[in-house]
Amino acid sequence: MIKERNISRLFRKSLEGLKPYSSARDEFKDFNADMTFLDANENPFENGVNRYPDPQQRSLKSVLAGLKGVDEDQILLGNGSDEVLDLLFRIFCEPNEDNVITLPPTYGMYKVLAGVNAIENREVPLTVDFQPDLDNILKAADTNSKLLLLCSPNNPTANTFSESVIRDLLDRFPGVVVIDEAYIDFTDKASWLRQLSSFPNLVVTQTFSKAFGLAGIRLGICYASPEIIEMLNKIKPPYNVNELTQLRALERLEDMVSVRAEIDSILLERGRLEEALKNIGFIKKIFPSEANFILARVDNAPKRYDELLKQGIVVRDRSKQYLCENTLRFTVGTKEENIKLIQTLSELDNA
Ligand SMILES: *Cc1c(COP(=O)(O)O)cnc(C)c1O
Repeated sequence: MIKERNISRLFRKSLEGLKPYSSARDEFKDFNADMTFLDANENPFENGVNRYPDPQQRSLKSVLAGLKGVDEDQILLGNGSDEVLDLLFRIFCEPNEDNVITLPPTYGMYKVLAGVNAIENREVPLTVDFQPDLDNILKAADTNSKLLLLCSPNNPTANTFSESVIRDLLDRFPGVVVIDEAYIDFTDKASWLRQLSSFPNLVVTQTFSKAFGLAGIRLGICYASPEIIEMLNKIKPPYNVNELTQLRALERLEDMVSVRAEIDSILLERGRLEEALKNIGFIKKIFPSEANFILARVDNAPKRYDELLKQGIVVRDRSKQYLCENTLRFTVGTKEENIKLIQTLSELDNA
C-alpha cells in the first residue's frame, strides 16, 4: 500500500520549528572532564547526586548499544516505557485529529495514553487465537493513523505475534509500527531490534522493569531510526532519567550473568507452574506462555480472585478484557511463591 517511507511526513507539524530547551549540561557536554562546574546552579558540596545527571545517559547507552547490537543514536531512554510511549504519541499524533490503532486484549496503558493526549484509539480486536487481524487493521487505518501498537509477547495473553503478520504490517501500515517488547527476554522468538535498519517505520520498546528486575528505578528504552530518536530527544524533559537510575542500570548491566540466571529460573518455574496448574480442576484452560506470567481460564474468576486474596495471594483478574472472560493472570514468582500458589489453589479446588 505505502511505498514511500518518508517518516518525517508523519511528525506533528507543530514540532517542525521547535527549539528544545538547552540545559547547562547540553551546552557543556564533557561531563567527566576535570573542570570547575559553575554553570548549573547546583550545590557544590559533593554527595554523589548533587550534580544534574547526564541528559543523554551516554555511559548507559554505550553499554546498551553493545549489548543489543544497535547504534547509540538509535536509543532513547525514559522514565519507564510509559514515558517512552507517551513521547511517541507526542511526536506523531496531533490531538483531536490523528488516531492510533490498538489490539485488545492488550496492555492498558496504550488506551490511557491515547485518552490523555486526545488521540482517537481505534481498537481492532485480536483474532480468537490472539493474533493481529491484518485485514481489519488495514481497513481501520487511514492517513491519520500514526501509530500501530503491537505488544509481543502480548500482555495479558502471553503469546508472541506471527512474524509474517508483523512483517506485512510493517510493509503496509501507513504509520509507525511500535512493537512493545517488555517481555522479549522470556521467549525464544527473536527481537525485532535486528530489523530496525530494514524498516524505517519500526519502533521497538523494551524495559528494565521485567527480566532485568528493576521496576523500581523506572527505566524504559526506545529503539528506532536516528531520525525518530532525534525528534524524541527534542521534546523529552531534559533530565528525564535520574542519576540513581542510571547508576543502578549500569550496575545491573555489568552483571548480565545474574540477569540471565534469574531469567532461566523464571522460565524453569513457568514450566513447573504450567504443569501444576493442569491438575487444578477449576482451571479450564492454560494459555501457552512466552512471558513471565500465565493466563488461565477458570470457572469463576472474581470468586477465585477473592479466595486467593483471602489466603494472602494477589493475582490479576483479566476477565473484563476482550476474549478473556473468566481469566486470571498469574505472575511467575520464586519457587517458594509458586509452591504456595499451587498449594493454595489445590486446597480451594478440594474445598
Ligand atoms: C510491564 C509492561 C511494560 C513496562 O512498563 P514500564 O513503564 O517500563 O515499567 C511495558 N509494556 C507492557 C506491555 C508491560 O506489560
